[in-house]
Amino acid sequence: MCKRLYNYKTGKASYKPYQIPIVHSQNFQIPQGKIVFYANQFSRGNVILGEVELASNHDQECSVSLISPNKDIDFHKQNKVHSVLFAIDPDFNGHTYSVSLRFRCGKNVRSKTVVLSLRDRAFPVLKVKLQLGKYADRSYLADKPELLQKIAEQNIRINSVWSRLSDPVRQFGVSHPRSVHRVTSSFYMQRSRLVYNQGKLVGSASSRHYGVDLWGDVGEPVFAMLRGRVALAEEMYYQGKYIIIDHGQGVFSEYMHLDAIHVKKDDIVEPGQRIGATGKTGMVMGAHLHIGLRIRGMFADPLSLVGLPIR
Ligand SMILES: [Zn+2]
Repeated sequence: MCKRLYNYKTGKASYKPYQIPIVHSQNFQIPQGKIVFYANQFSRGNVILGEVELASNHDQECSVSLISPNKDIDFHKQNKVHSVLFAIDPDFNGHTYSVSLRFRCGKNVRSKTVVLSLRDRAFPVLKVKLQLGKYADRSYLADKPELLQKIAEQNIRINSVWSRLSDPVRQFGVSHPRSVHRVTSSFYMQRSRLVYNQGKLVGSASSRHYGVDLWGDVGEPVFAMLRGRVALAEEMYYQGKYIIIDHGQGVFSEYMHLDAIHVKKDDIVEPGQRIGATGKTGMVMGAHLHIGLRIRGMFADPLSLVGLPIR
């Protein structure tokens, strides 16, 4: 795993080892047992791994769940440790974040709220405006009803994947999605693109970047980040050759603009398994991997998974 560094004077690349982020933890002792939260940084937009080890008098008959607005999320029990992944909304403002858990021991149900302390996190603004050609021309799709229909159908298929809440998948660690680490566009960056109409510049539009762009020439390997089941593997209009992996409990990773897809729908993939190759298919300006992470509908920084002690 290397980080490619460019010397802009000579145009030559050099490599330096990629540093796996240091993982921080916050611990709580409660009557039901011990709770530990892990994160690369406790801040908005990041993933948090929650683990509960129940006290021995609670261990046998108790279950733990995360109290969430729509539906409680059951922790996954593995070797006496109950675990769950969740993310802090990138739009969240505040220095503390409350996490409420429900403990069910037979007929006895208790809930407990613990408070995490958060660090500030600002998301950068990209100064340069993106040039996306036909993808940013309002007139391009206007006279293509069949293509519009196709895009609408693709969106329905994608949204049906996002809405799933599959059973937990037993995890065996996390992999970086690339063998070279070079971020060309970071998570939740504010970006604007030039907007055209019939080839004429008419203004610009701004949006957030819901993933991370990682540099990669056409054909370089792309690896699955976590263990999971391939939920979608096909070419789409905006995403290009596109893979979504379902990691269970509403956790998904997505890989866009691929040159090649090496897996098919319903395959079980392992972290670090080669699933495709970087490319420039779909709405891109050049070859790269767009990697995204979605946890029960919320986008989070996919690189904040790397280094978490997921087991
Ligand atoms: Zn991107």
